[in-house]
Amino acid sequence: MVGFVSSPRCVEHDTGPHHPERPDRLRAIHRAVRDARLIESPDPFPEFEIDLGIASQLLRLAEIAPKSATESDARLIHPQRLIDNVKHSCEFGAVLDMGDTPTCAASFEIALLSLGCAITAADAVARGDCRRAFAAARPPGHHAEPDRSMGFCFFSNIAIVARHLQRAYGMERIAIVDFDVHHGNGTQACFEDDPSVLFVSLHEHPSTLYPGSGQAWEVGDGPGRGTTLNIPLNPGGGDTEYLAAIDAKVLPAIDKYKPDILLVSAGFDAHADDPLAHMQVSDDGFEQITRRLVQAAEIHTGGRLVSVLEGGYNLVALGRSVVRHLIALADPI
Ligand SMILES: [Zn+2]
Repeated sequence: MVGFVSSPRCVEHDTGPHHPERPDRLRAIHRAVRDARLIESPDPFPEFEIDLGIASQLLRLAEIAPKSATESDARLIHPQRLIDNVKHSCEFGAVLDMGDTPTCAASFEIALLSLGCAITAADAVARGDCRRAFAAARPPGHHAEPDRSMGFCFFSNIAIVARHLQRAYGMERIAIVDFDVHHGNGTQACFEDDPSVLFVSLHEHPSTLYPGSGQAWEVGDGPGRGTTLNIPLNPGGGDTEYLAAIDAKVLPAIDKYKPDILLVSAGFDAHADDPLAHMQVSDDGFEQITRRLVQAAEIHTGGRLVSVLEGGYNLVALGRSVVRHLIALADPI
């Protein structure tokens, strides 16, 4: 069984009328999973209008209610001063990160809820309640460094999940694959010198895209040298380039590392229709990427895979691609 963790409350993080990381992203995903009949509960946003052109599927996901995270969860990665800074900024509706990361009064609570969705998904997989799980929540996390919230991200959700799995379940080797079109600088910063987490990021080349890091020569430091793998792709690349890179570099890295669990930073902004980047991945490309990761999980982790939403800013492309991602997660092998 594959779990789906989300909360309609994630729309309460209000980034203003023109921000790409907006509440409608969550509404589009909720509509998409219902149009595909992956989820049977009523749509929490019935008034939201969008035409996704998604056909009904035979697969069903298990809906899992999220538990909000606490500041002590966030402290697995972030110092208290960062947490306090986010909290106080949200109280005043301040904009973090030189204008990129707006907040509102609810943002602190919703950032912890988004983190909680990711932890809930990980707990469900670690306990064996389901084989794989997807957390559909916002704000995203992979740009947040231990000391710095940035790039629409407050807390480093997937990095905190990795630490949580190590602490709570004794997992020793965690692999994170990040296929968001932007480099996962935050996740990388958390584990650069730590060999207990393999971090692999596929992204548009840093010379053409935010945040400008993620060169192939960034391979980790000290004892963590060799457990950071950056795969920058030239702008304009699509399904063929992504799948070739996964086959040539990502899967061999996972094979060599032999993780206890596979975590996925699932951003859908490498889509051809995405407004923020210059890659050409199709809906089907996201399904094929996911199928390869599922296969790697089947080989090394007993199938255990936890996927956490990152970016994806064209609402139709996002909704459709998330459904294809979920189909690949849920299909029996
Ligand atoms: Zn992104």
